[in-house]
Order: sequence, then C-alpha cells, then structure tokens
Amino acid sequence: MTPDQSLDGGRTAVRFHGRSPLALEVAERWFELRRFSDDVTLIREPHVFGAAYANMWHVRGRDKDLLLDTGTGVLSLRAQVAQLTERPPVCVASHTHFDHIGGHHEFEERLVHAAEADILAAPDDERTLLSANREACFQALPYAGFDIGRYGIAAAPATRLVAEGDIVDLGDRHFEVMHLPGHSPGSICLWEAATRTLLSGDVVTEGAPIDEHYHSDIPDYIASLERLRDLPAEIVHPGHYESLGRPRMVEIIDDYLAGKRKPGCPAAP
Ligand SMILES: [Zn+2]
Ligand SMILES: [Zn+2]
Repeated sequence: MTPDQSLDGGRTAVRFHGRSPLALEVAERWFELRRFSDDVTLIREPHVFGAAYANMWHVRGRDKDLLLDTGTGVLSLRAQVAQLTERPPVCVASHTHFDHIGGHHEFEERLVHAAEADILAAPDDERTLLSANREACFQALPYAGFDIGRYGIAAAPATRLVAEGDIVDLGDRHFEVMHLPGHSPGSICLWEAATRTLLSGDVVTEGAPIDEHYHSDIPDYIASLERLRDLPAEIVHPGHYESLGRPRMVEIIDDYLAGKRKPGCPAAP
C-alpha cells in the first residue's frame, strides 16, 4: 500500500511498517463507548487505523434511535448497542467506505444515499476501499484466530434510500439529510437544527478534507463545503477524530477552499 491509499490520506500509514497481522495480539476491549449529556453516544474501535478509527454515533430519541455508521463489523456492534438500549436503531450510512458500514448487516432498518446504494448492497473490497487498507487497518485482533485475509464486508441492501432534505424522525428529534458529495458521491451529513448538531461523516473531520479516493470529486467537494460553511452548527460530530466546534470547522473548510482556488489548480473556478 502507498500512503495516499490509506483512508486518512496517509497520516497514519507510517504506523504499520513491518507489522504482520500474525504478530498482533488479541484486544482486551474492542469497542469504546462515550456517552454525551444529550443522549448522544460515540462508539469507536480504538484498534483500527491507529488514531484514525471511524466514529459511530448513536442518538436516543423518544420513538426511535439513530445509529450513524457501524465500523468494521469484525465483532457484533448490535451487542454493543444493546447495552445502550434494547431498541434496534435506524441505521444510516454516512457513506460506504468499509470502516463505516461493516456492521450494517446486523440491523433491520438501513438507510443510504442512492448514489452509494449499490455499494452497500454489494460491498466489494475495491469499492469500499478495503483492498487498499486490508493489511494496515488493524493494530490488534478482535478475537483469537481472526483471519485478516478472509475479512470482508457483508452485504446489507438498503431498506430506504435517502436524499437531500429527507428527515430521519426519532419522534422528538429530527435529523435532516444533507447530500454533500465530494469525499464520495453518496456522502451525507445529518443536521439537527434544534440543537445545532451536525453529524458530518467524512465530509468534515479534523485535518484536510480527503478528496483523493477513486470516486472523490473535487468540484463537488468544494460546493459541499461551501454549503457547510454557512450552517450555524454549534457542535460537529465527525466520522473520525474528535468533535469540532464551528470555528474549527470553518477554518478547515477555508483552508481547503483557499488551496483549491489557487491559480493553476484544476479545480480553480
Ligand atoms: Zn470515507
Ligand atoms: Zn472514514
């Protein structure tokens, strides 16, 4: 693998040099849960991708619960969610890179944007980016005998396709779907206007926006980030790394837009 094939643009690739999956130890705890005051729970797999493991976001509502993204799927996420609530959540995919959709098959209600519905239904190693990351993605084994060579993402066809403006309705909480392509064609964010909370997937995370995957599109990304810049978000819960306030989100967006608008850049207007 080359550094720029890794999911986070190469920032963690250096960690993996010379480490054979055979030499890895079994993790004592695979999942890490952190509950926020507003019934939002962050679920992580700390042994995936060094510090770049994907974030899963569980939001408890009055009538329903929401789960945005499902990690690698190597151990049961459903069993973890059951520790929070016995209700099965509405399971949404922010997009279909493998470390965001591995557990989708465990949940009955599955939502994705139409632009990546085919990948969720048939998540092959190439399109989910697993093939480019297979050797590098685990720093511990989820269980004894885990075989990285046989690891794959289970098919989880969507039960509902979502589009711009759709609402994921939890009864007392309402998350609006924002279609924000660029990182990938079906990337979405979920926006709760009442609490000014943005679940941003991989569209905005700490660090430079990642626009170099096979189905990334820089002009789309620019348009998406310009939309997000205008959003009065107070808290941004991203697909990787720690949560952000609006000032940091705007800074990340402005740095990206400034870079892409340089004369001679292919994306310059
Ligand atoms: Zn991604
Ligand atoms: Zn990601």
